[in-house]
Amino acid sequence: MPRTTHPAPLLDRFGRVHTDLRVSLTDRCNLRCTYCMPAEGLDWLPKPDLLTDEELMRLVRIATTGLGIRSLRLTGGEPLLRRGLPDLIAGFASLPDAPELSLTTNGIGLARQADALRAAGLHRVNVSLDTLRPERFRALTRRDRLADVLDGLAAAKRAGLDPVKVNAVPVRGVNDDELTELTAWAVEHGYRLRFIESMPLDAQGAWDRERMVTADEILAALGRVFTLEPVARADAGRDANAPAEQWRIAGTDAVVGVIASVTRPFCGGCDRVRLTADGQLRNCLFATEESDLRALLRGGADDEAIESAWRSCIAGKGPGHAINSADFRRPERPMSAIGG
Ligand code: SAM
Ligand code: SF4
Repeated sequence: MPRTTHPAPLLDRFGRVHTDLRVSLTDRCNLRCTYCMPAEGLDWLPKPDLLTDEELMRLVRIATTGLGIRSLRLTGGEPLLRRGLPDLIAGFASLPDAPELSLTTNGIGLARQADALRAAGLHRVNVSLDTLRPERFRALTRRDRLADVLDGLAAAKRAGLDPVKVNAVPVRGVNDDELTELTAWAVEHGYRLRFIESMPLDAQGAWDRERMVTADEILAALGRVFTLEPVARADAGRDANAPAEQWRIAGTDAVVGVIASVTRPFCGGCDRVRLTADGQLRNCLFATEESDLRALLRGGADDEAIESAWRSCIAGKGPGHAINSADFRRPERPMSAIGG
C-alpha cells in the first residue's frame, strides 16, 4: 500500500536509517533451547508489565506513520504463545501505513495457526530449527516437539507465507555434523535456510566462543558437499539489507544464508530497533540501556512525546556491538526477553 505519510527518517549519528522494528510479544517460551535458556529457574516478566494489544498498536502506529518504520517482525520468547495473535496482526495490517509483517517462531502451534495468521495479514515467517533428529531435538530444546515444528513449517508453506525461512544455530559437538543434511532438506522442501552464529545472549551466561561454529566453518562444511555461488547484495531483493550473507547452491534455485554476528559483524548497515514485551525500546540487541516507552504510554504522553523519546533512543545508538573487544559487557536481558 502506498504510504500516506513521509516522516523524517529515524536517523542515528552514523547516518543509519532505521526502518525495521522487532517487537517481542512475550518473554515466555514452550521450549528451552540450551543456547538460549536454562532448563528452569528463569523468571518471566510480570503480566501487568507487558504491553497490552492497544498499547502495542499505538506504538506501531507511531512507528510507521511518524518514524518511517517499514517492516515489523514479531518475536519473543515464543510469539505464538501470545493470545489473540491473529487479531493483533490484523490490527497492524490495517494501519494506514501498514508495515511488512513477519514472525520469528519456534513453529510449535504454527500448524494450527498458519492459515489464520496469513489471513490476518502476515507475510513471512522464520521458523527456528537446529536439527532434524528427534533425539537431538529433545536434547537441544529439552522438549520432544520436533514433529510439531515440521508440521508447522509445512503448514506455513501451504498457507502461502513466503518465503518460509529456517533459522539454525550450529553448536560445536551438538549439531555441527548436520549442516549439510539440514541444507539438503531445506532445498528439498523449498525453505530458505540461514545459519546463525551463536551469540553471548543466553539467559544463563554460559556462552563459550569455543563452542560457536563460525561462518568460515559453516561455509567450509557446506563447500565440501555443495558448490556455493555468492549472491551479491544488489541481487538479494528485499533481503539486500538483511544481515545474512547469501550463497546460491549451484544447480538449484536455493539460497542459503549465514548470519555471522560475531565473526563478521554487520553493525555498519544496521537498520533495526527493538521493543521488548514490557515496552522498553532498545537501539541494539547488545544495548545496555533502554528507553522506557511503557512509562510514557501509561503516564499519558502524547504521540509527539513518544516520537521524540524514540528519536533520542536512536540518536544514542553506538557504532556497533563490542563482542570481540576485551571490555564487552553482556546486556542484562537475555535474547529471549529482548526479542531475537
Ligand atoms: N522463540 C522464537 C524462535 O526460537 O524462533 C523466537 C525468539 S528466539 C530468541 C529468535 C532467534 O534467536 C531464534 O532463531 C533462535 O535460534 C535465536 N537465538 C536464541 N538464542 C541465541 C543465541 N544465544 N545466539 C544466537 N541466536 C540465538
Ligand atoms: Fe524459546 Fe526461541 Fe529461546 Fe528456543 S530460541 S528457548 S524457542 S525463545
